[in-house]
Amino acid sequence: MQQVTLNDGKTIPQLGFGVFKVDPAETERIVSDALEVGYRHIDTAAIYRNEEGVGRAIAASGIPRDELFITTKLWNDRHGDADRAIEESLEKLGLDRVDLYLVHWPSPKQDRYIEAWRALEGIRARGLATSIGVSNFLKHHLDRLLAETDTVPVLDQLELHPYHQQPATTSFARANGIAIEAWGPLGQNKYPLLELDAITSIASAHGRTPAQTVLRWHLQSGNIVFPKTVSRERMLENFQVFDFELSADEVASITALEREGRVSSNPDEVD
Ligand code: NAD
Repeated sequence: MQQVTLNDGKTIPQLGFGVFKVDPAETERIVSDALEVGYRHIDTAAIYRNEEGVGRAIAASGIPRDELFITTKLWNDRHGDADRAIEESLEKLGLDRVDLYLVHWPSPKQDRYIEAWRALEGIRARGLATSIGVSNFLKHHLDRLLAETDTVPVLDQLELHPYHQQPATTSFARANGIAIEAWGPLGQNKYPLLELDAITSIASAHGRTPAQTVLRWHLQSGNIVFPKTVSRERMLENFQVFDFELSADEVASITALEREGRVSSNPDEVD
């Protein structure tokens, strides 16, 4: 598995498995399947309400803890209460630390993300999270965080797919040593991304599926990704993306699909 080195010296597997909208009752089975397929990086969040299932799958797998990379996130109504929120998440996960803890959204109307970030600095210092980062922070949120606090987030987890690439935020982040995680890497199937000629033609040229082609574009663009699926077949398909390479022209033609096509909320408007 290809690893990305973060600004705190730790590494993260560039491909993982996401569990947004995975039914809590099904999570243990689905994450167990993903671990069997070979995924070692799991992305969950308190708000997904499936941390227990992730924890049960980890415990049942017998995989040594240091071979796994587990991310969870602080929900928006806990910006003033992160110390308790991380303890609750760890208890549900059955872990004594996560590899990565993120502020899930900046929730600028609450104006408490600086306070939340300072709490995450303490959580990291206490060893409850090895690395800390943010999610859905746009350039201006990052700008303020860098100006007002002492720790640069290791990464920013953003909605990012060929139709919505957020160049202003990603170039600012990368210039400041902040890695990029792409959530909704396949556009959450809300756009016919996987049917576009620009993608299917490249897929056919490589004898690959459109999903593998889009994931490969992410990897070659430097993004960390964790596509979600409940199907074991697709888990396998999405995992087989390290044995082919797109040309620079192919990468550029997928990048050219950008059209500010957000599928989810504008972070400035989420409470
Ligand atoms: P995604 O882009 O991974 O799309 C998931 C959809 O794509 C599902 O409907 C699935 O059936 C389909 N799919 C998966 N593999 C496929 C394949 N090989 N062929 C065809 N269709 C396929 O969207 P996502 O789940 O929103 O994003 C991935 C992860 O990102 C989430 O599970 C979660 O961990 C994270 N996430 C984070 C935030 C955030 O605010 N930080 C928001 C949403 C998601």
